[in-house]
Amino acid sequence: MLETTLQRRLEERRSLSRYRQRREIQSAQTSRLSLNGREFLQFCSNDYLGIANHPKLIQAMQDAAAQFGVGSGASHLVCGHSSLHHQLENRLADITGRERALLFSTGYMANLGVIAGLLGKGDQVLEDRLNHASLLDGGLLSGARFQRFQHNNLEDLERRLMTLPEQGERLIVVDAVFSMDGDMAPLPELAKLAQRYDASLMADDAHGFGVLGNTGAGSAEFFGLSQRELPILMGTLGKGLGSYGAFVAGSETLIESLIQFARPYIYTTAMPPAVAAATLAGLDLLQTEAWRREHLQSLIGYFKAQAASLGFNVMPSDTAIQPLMVGGEAEAMAISAELERRGILVTAIRPPTVPVGSSRLRITLSAAHSTADIDQLLAALCEILPEAGA
Ligand code: PMP
Repeated sequence: MLETTLQRRLEERRSLSRYRQRREIQSAQTSRLSLNGREFLQFCSNDYLGIANHPKLIQAMQDAAAQFGVGSGASHLVCGHSSLHHQLENRLADITGRERALLFSTGYMANLGVIAGLLGKGDQVLEDRLNHASLLDGGLLSGARFQRFQHNNLEDLERRLMTLPEQGERLIVVDAVFSMDGDMAPLPELAKLAQRYDASLMADDAHGFGVLGNTGAGSAEFFGLSQRELPILMGTLGKGLGSYGAFVAGSETLIESLIQFARPYIYTTAMPPAVAAATLAGLDLLQTEAWRREHLQSLIGYFKAQAASLGFNVMPSDTAIQPLMVGGEAEAMAISAELERRGILVTAIRPPTVPVGSSRLRITLSAAHSTADIDQLLAALCEILPEAGA
């Protein structure tokens, strides 16, 4: 009986301290949010620039909803593609320096769409073993031969590239910023390897777009990588951009192929036009409120310096994702619960999201934070983990 099997699986997950639970948030999210009638200082959101609640995004969304309504009504290829979607695609292509960009309803779907839509049986996909679940799922779904190389290990990747069969396409896929570790992929070196072995390179810039690079155009801008060097650039809009959805940017041929062959693009309702309008307002802020990127950068430096001087086991990351390694699931959960008791939200990340024995507190910083917020978090951690803060 399915019901009995499910109950057993749930029990097993509970006993391993891996049981996942949602929280009901009762407010907009800035550095603070409201939960069960109480205000919390939070370090769990991916709203890295602190703009999900920005009056300009809210206004843009309201105005567009008044004009276009709420739902897009259909998929992009039927009658759901509005002038706002189109304008947003053009802006995203401009900002990323690519020929074209294509909107997807979520990043998860974009990754499935690209990998499974472009590759198939007889092709080869090579992915970093710490890639986001959606990239791994895309690789599996594609039917291509799917390999995972050791995290950020160019030698391991090259060894695998050397032994690939001559026939078929080759795609190397990485997170530009790894979602649970916060470190970056060595994109310039990966681009060189891809060229040397006649492979294409895809980077998922969910955690870099809006945040990294001089203008906020993300990891490709940070490393100065052209469309030729990084032909498939995926970014999400629900993190740094403060709204929702995702895009893929690249050549005319890439985008037309996705429109024809990417099933998660073709067979789903287009994002609401008002979400596209809010995202356009978010893109404006990348220019007009560049201080947000700068402030975030200085908070990252401050957090790292303070955490290191206090002796915390913070993983090596220069991005807004600053994980504190704990190890065991139960221990990570206990620290997170104790922080919550003290009015601070930090998510414990456990297997299967991360490897066994590497449960951690995923601390995310945002331009909405202040150095005093970081001091408050670190002071609480010093009390909870006195041995680490010695
Ligand atoms: N890629 C990465 C690296 C992510 O972290 C996420 C979101 N957690 C996604 C893709 C999926 O994006 P979305 O939330 O828009 O589906």
